[in-house]
Amino acid sequence: MSYPSPSSRARPLRLRLTLLAASGLLPLLLVLVWGINYLIEDRRSQSERSVVEVSRALGTAVDAELRSIMRLLDQMGASDELEREDLRSVHRAAIRAARQFNWHEVVLSDAEGRVLLRSGDPFGTSSPVPVEPDSLRRVIATRQPSVGHVFQTPGLKADAFAVRVPVLRSGKLVYVLSAVLPTDALLAVLVRQHIPSASVAAVFDQMRRLVVRSRPATSAFASPSLQLLLDRNGQQGAGLTLTQEGMESYTGYTRLEGVGWTVAVGTSVDGANEGLYALLRALAVGLAASLALSALLAWGLSRRVLEPIDALIEGAAALGRGEPVWLPPLEIVELDDVGVALAAAAAERDRSLQERERAATERERLVGQIADALRMAEEANRSKDQFLAVLGHELRNPLAPITNAMQLMQIKGDESTVRERRIIERQLAHVTRLVDDLLDVSRITSGRLSIRRAPVRLADLLEQLVESVRPSVDGRVLTLEIGPGTQDAWVSGDEVRLVQVFNNLLVNAIKFTPPAGSISVRAVLSDSGVRVDIVDSGIGIDADDIARIFELFYQSPQHSDRSRGGLGLGLPIVKNLVEMHGGTVAAESAGPGQGSKFTVLLPLVDAPASSRPAPLLASTVQAGRILVVDDNRDAADTCAALLEMSGYTVRVAYTPEASLQVLQQFRPDTAILDIGLPGMSGYALAGLMKAPPLSYRGKLIALTGYGQASDRADSSAAGFDAHLTKPVSPQELLDLVESLSSSAGSPS
Ligand code: ADP
Repeated sequence: MSYPSPSSRARPLRLRLTLLAASGLLPLLLVLVWGINYLIEDRRSQSERSVVEVSRALGTAVDAELRSIMRLLDQMGASDELEREDLRSVHRAAIRAARQFNWHEVVLSDAEGRVLLRSGDPFGTSSPVPVEPDSLRRVIATRQPSVGHVFQTPGLKADAFAVRVPVLRSGKLVYVLSAVLPTDALLAVLVRQHIPSASVAAVFDQMRRLVVRSRPATSAFASPSLQLLLDRNGQQGAGLTLTQEGMESYTGYTRLEGVGWTVAVGTSVDGANEGLYALLRALAVGLAASLALSALLAWGLSRRVLEPIDALIEGAAALGRGEPVWLPPLEIVELDDVGVALAAAAAERDRSLQERERAATERERLVGQIADALRMAEEANRSKDQFLAVLGHELRNPLAPITNAMQLMQIKGDESTVRERRIIERQLAHVTRLVDDLLDVSRITSGRLSIRRAPVRLADLLEQLVESVRPSVDGRVLTLEIGPGTQDAWVSGDEVRLVQVFNNLLVNAIKFTPPAGSISVRAVLSDSGVRVDIVDSGIGIDADDIARIFELFYQSPQHSDRSRGGLGLGLPIVKNLVEMHGGTVAAESAGPGQGSKFTVLLPLVDAPASSRPAPLLASTVQAGRILVVDDNRDAADTCAALLEMSGYTVRVAYTPEASLQVLQQFRPDTAILDIGLPGMSGYALAGLMKAPPLSYRGKLIALTGYGQASDRADSSAAGFDAHLTKPVSPQELLDLVESLSSSAGSPS
């Protein structure tokens, strides 16, 4: 058995629940992402604002420092020594000032930019060429103080810069005083500003060359990303840069107005966001914990759902296998409902199964009963058929001797008993006919009836028949009409049986027609053969009965008062015989009192080439010796008496053994053997008789109640010369014996 496989869209419940729980966390996650983004942005703008603040504060401090240097130089410019142009004193004062303020040197230049003296050189030895001429030129041109860019002092090989102020007399530039400072001089300013450890501050000159840095520098210039930031316009600004150390930082800058220097302060992005990162970490841990918890919950929940589902699956499988379904109470109401429904379905299945089993048992019982009844009916039918067959034989056996005895009485010619003999003869004929019918019916029902076909001229047959019944018409008018062309109509059939057919119909017509009525037999040619109508003006047949009168034993209810006798066998025999001849028979009647018409239709055959052979019988009576063997003593004795009266010498034997003894001395010309002998059949007896030592060579006649073709074949196979069916009329017997004797060769 195959189960449908789960569809490709099927997912385990556990996964679905986990996804469900996770999806609950999704909005939270989105809000968190948005919030964190917001926080990062906020932190960034805050940090950028604060580095700009710091850079401005630092810028202010550096500017103040430079201004204080300029003020000192201004004071020196206004000194008496310079007023008096006492350059030697000025030189000394310059040396003092350089020492006092930790300057590198103090330089005095004239209005054309030529160096007049340096505090670092002995007086009068200085070269007139300025070290860093740019700023000097600017002062001369603008007559404004100026700060120069960083340069390397030739002697010290250390970075330095110059602060220069103009010395004006009555609005006219006369000198330029410069202080050359080591860049480190500004370090103290940075230190004073308390730059946080996570930040870095730096001061750049006009060329973006580093002046001073709060941390040791690896390069003399600003990092490329800082260069880009500083390229922007504006007095101040902020942005994301990478420091020389490679540290990502929020960097703010402030340009020093009038000086051309820039102060930049950067603070580590990581440092700025540290709190944020901690928050992020906490959130991530929280989120992971939530996820884990929801997965755990989903797992637990799915377990609680899956367990009942497993139970339901097992229950459904049990239902499918036809086993009892037992389910514990399930914790989930909906599933419990399904469980209850499954149990109910199982109960319903069991109930209908029981119902079916009960019905099947009942059916079997009924079928058994019907089969029994059928068997009994068949048994009864067989018993009935058997009984009829036995009855026929048993009735026929005594009929033969009675007939013979009657014949003897007639031959003896006792005149005083003529009337009684007539009565006995008539009744005997009636009984014989009934017995014949019974035997025929039993043959029909057992399928043993057969016919011997030969060409029969129907007109002859009907003429003889009508004449034979005419003595019994008792005042009724009986006519025979042979239609045109019917005179030479031949049919293929068993003459004896065809006589039986028309005799039965004719006897019925006479029987059911009052004495004043008329009966006519008409033979006409029809398309499909020859048609014989037997029409009477008798009591007629009810429409209901017409359909049934051809059934076995059926008699019209109004006729079953036994007043007319009969067994209801005549018409079924007629129907069977006609059909065996390939014909049909039908009854018609306009109703009770309207007379009846029976129509027999038989197929035609061509006339035979030669006419029927002339009867063999020769009437010469020849005396001969005859042995009669029959265990029915009356039959044997009357038969013997009949033959003796005809001049034969007759011996009788009642058993096969006796017959063999008789044969030894008697040597008959003809032996008449009953077939149903005690202990041995007539066929076997014939065999013994013909075999040595007896070697009987006379004629053999079988005399039996069995007159079928097969019986005749059996007897001829056993070596019999003739076969007579009981009861045999004495004349028939005598005729046969005579004919056999006349054709006999010499007996052994
Ligand atoms: P039965 O021996 O009773 O005559 P049949 O088989 O010959 O048996 O006939 C069956 C029944 O058919 C009769 O009992 C009778 O009721 C009816 N029947 C037969 N022939 C005629 C007829 N010529 N007229 C009226 N009824 C007939």
